[in-house]
Amino acid sequence: MELENAKKIIKKATEKLNLPKQILNILLNTEREVKVNFPVQMDDGTQKIFTGYRIQHNSLLGPYKGGIRYHPEVNLDEVSALSIWMTIKTATLNLPFGGAKGGVICNPKELSEQELENLTRAFIKKISSIIGPQKDIPAPDVYTSSKIMDTIVNEYSKIENIPIEKARAVVTGKSIENGGSLGRNTATARGGQFVLKQAIEQTKIIPTLENATVAIQGVGNAGGNFAKLIIKDNAKIIAISDSKSAIYNPEGLNINEVLEHKKQTGSLPNASNTTDITNEQLLELDCDILVPAALANQITEKNANQIKAKIILELANGPTTPEADKILENKNKLILPDILANAGGVTVSYYEWYQNINQEKWTAEKVDEKLKEKMQKATQEILDKKTKYQTTTRVAAYINAIERLAKKINRKN
Ligand code: NAD
Repeated sequence: MELENAKKIIKKATEKLNLPKQILNILLNTEREVKVNFPVQMDDGTQKIFTGYRIQHNSLLGPYKGGIRYHPEVNLDEVSALSIWMTIKTATLNLPFGGAKGGVICNPKELSEQELENLTRAFIKKISSIIGPQKDIPAPDVYTSSKIMDTIVNEYSKIENIPIEKARAVVTGKSIENGGSLGRNTATARGGQFVLKQAIEQTKIIPTLENATVAIQGVGNAGGNFAKLIIKDNAKIIAISDSKSAIYNPEGLNINEVLEHKKQTGSLPNASNTTDITNEQLLELDCDILVPAALANQITEKNANQIKAKIILELANGPTTPEADKILENKNKLILPDILANAGGVTVSYYEWYQNINQEKWTAEKVDEKLKEKMQKATQEILDKKTKYQTTTRVAAYINAIERLAKKINRKN
């Protein structure tokens, strides 16, 4: 399903650009699909076989780049779709990277720390020949952390027999002590904030972020950090949710209090001055900006007609279905698509890799300034393409990325 959706948008964008079929074929096919089965030492002394994938979609613009996820439902179709998205996302931001994705079928909640480490080392041994600082650079994704990235560096340095300092650029999203970049933890939210501000300035769809009403689905790394950032712009967050519930106050939530309450109690309800609503109600609230920052397929043909927000900032991956996209565009909503809105993470990953390769250590201010420049430029380009090609923002984002890739293909032929 996800793979089909990604392919459909690529087809639409190449049609708009009148590109030859060869280019479409290159973009629709992955360059390499690796499936590995490997034994892992378990705590009870037994060995269990796990299956993992690394899919390298495209390397026209540079080494492959993309996360590794640990999840029971990892499968070839999903990992392939995600690898295509990475090619488009890195090209959207004009980063010198291609696209890849990986995953291991496992339930990390059922594995001990030691078993997780064993699994990571065993997986990396199997794929070490196809990854590397100039070949393919993995990163964290669902249920993989900076600790796991640090383990990958350690294992890779052993396999390649190179010092840790030389091995660091093989992955991004590492701990700061092990070569991670300042600003990486908040990069997705910060990138989304830059995109939103640029889009408001350019389209004037609402006068300013100040006093704009905002509803946020998800209070994790993306949603929670985004909430903390935009209150500094005096935006009014009227609702926020987690997997179990949503809270609402039309006069604006006290976000610091709400986040503290969530930290203390583990849940959102009963934070002071708030009313409980459902996640479905949150999506349909009367507000200026809706920020899906949790799961895919949240805005569908069933609820799209009820969405009242003027701007939809997709911090989550794939929160809007293609059917809902059409409905929202017909209602002149401004959708800031995932491949742009949540690309702050991969952009700071690039800065991390760059610092590792060049033995540099940037300040948080420098990272922030560079991120701002990149996100503003990409937003500007995409909104310009939307006008030029009279299309949706999502297709305009794909057009922007595919133009860059097509130029490279033409130069090679
Ligand atoms: P996270 O695990 O930190 O947070 C996820 C949040 O979603 C939590 O608040 C959780 O309670 C909430 N949630 C889960 N199920 C829900 C449900 N049914 N209804 C409402 N809320 C629900 O994850 P994250 O890193 O913040 O990622 C969120 C989304 O952003 C994902 O789609 C992810 O792919 C995307 N994203 C994240 C990053 C990043 O750097 N963190 C980068 C790009 C894209």
